[in-house]
Amino acid sequence: MTAANHSAALAPYAAQDGQTQGRRHPEPPPDYRTEFQRDRDRIVHSNAFRRLVYKTQVFVNHEGDLYRTRLTHSMEVAQIARSIARALNLNESLTEAICLAHDLGHTPFGHAGQDALNDCMREYGGFEHNLQSLRVVDELEERYAEFVGLNLTFECREGILKHCSLNNARTLGDIGLRFINRQQPSLEAQLANLADEIAYNNHDVDDGIRAGLLTLEQLREVTLVRMQLEAVQSKYPALQGRRLVHETVRRMINHLVVDVVQTTTAQVKAAAPASIADVRLQAGYLVGMSEETRAQHIELKQFLRDNLYRHYRVQRMTLKARKVVHALFQAFFEDINLMPDEHRLAAASLEAREGKTGRARAVADYVAGMTDRYAIGEHERMFVPSERS
Ligand code: MG
Repeated sequence: MTAANHSAALAPYAAQDGQTQGRRHPEPPPDYRTEFQRDRDRIVHSNAFRRLVYKTQVFVNHEGDLYRTRLTHSMEVAQIARSIARALNLNESLTEAICLAHDLGHTPFGHAGQDALNDCMREYGGFEHNLQSLRVVDELEERYAEFVGLNLTFECREGILKHCSLNNARTLGDIGLRFINRQQPSLEAQLANLADEIAYNNHDVDDGIRAGLLTLEQLREVTLVRMQLEAVQSKYPALQGRRLVHETVRRMINHLVVDVVQTTTAQVKAAAPASIADVRLQAGYLVGMSEETRAQHIELKQFLRDNLYRHYRVQRMTLKARKVVHALFQAFFEDINLMPDEHRLAAASLEAREGKTGRARAVADYVAGMTDRYAIGEHERMFVPSERS
């Protein structure tokens, strides 16, 4: 299928393959791929993408082989979003690229790691994982002769930067403008964002049950779970164990996906945007859930916050993660010579340009890039006396 055929099937308000706002460093168009397929391929080939396999979603990577990691999470997000993108005639390749890249800037140890690093960076501009994902694709990946970073399209970068403080937005040029002008991103970006929430809410139910921190019976108090669990049990009264869990979660995801397709179709129809430019000028997101489903989705989110993310066993992991990140950051910030050469050199050059803030940013880049097990290893090598170092 050629690029032209592919774009013929797209809705007029989708991101059109031939009409990207371009890359920071102009490049000739690819021969047999669309610009957004090229973005996706560059993301898949990046170092940061491969590291996602050893980064925590909720459970630390070595707790068990079946838990979601950031890599499998990103793939589930992409899979959910691609299904919806196709149903809505949006640009599937762009949607996929955004989803696969959305967590590239995540620290080790999930949100605990990100909060700890943000704490460490408080006096130096803070740390936002969305912004770091953009920094990874714009600055930190080293793969091409002609430019630093992956040189992705504007549309892909726009989707990766889903939130951003106003202060940071002002430093970002074209990609920060929409936060200042209160405009919307493309429908593909909106979809990637929502698919992220759908994916983690549902897979955290599955992982939480697997870890023994949640039970299906306990989850029955959540409307979204109860509806699907009752439907499964009335159709298959004898079903138990993993198959009961999976059949229920599968239906929960399906319920949400169908709702997003139907609600978004209606909202797009009512707003009738003629182009992606029109989408950007809307007062709010056009991709979304119905009010009723949104409320159920939030109820589940709240339940997971109270019962899973605040579970004492998860909290203990959070405490350890915070200590590891704080200790590594402090030690490297105080003496950049403790970092491997490439990071020491990056710190020295950023410090020459921006003083302590630059040094802190380079240390944050190093720590944020670590996988869970690498961070644990570095912590051990730095602070635990042993014969090897
Ligand atoms: Mg995510």
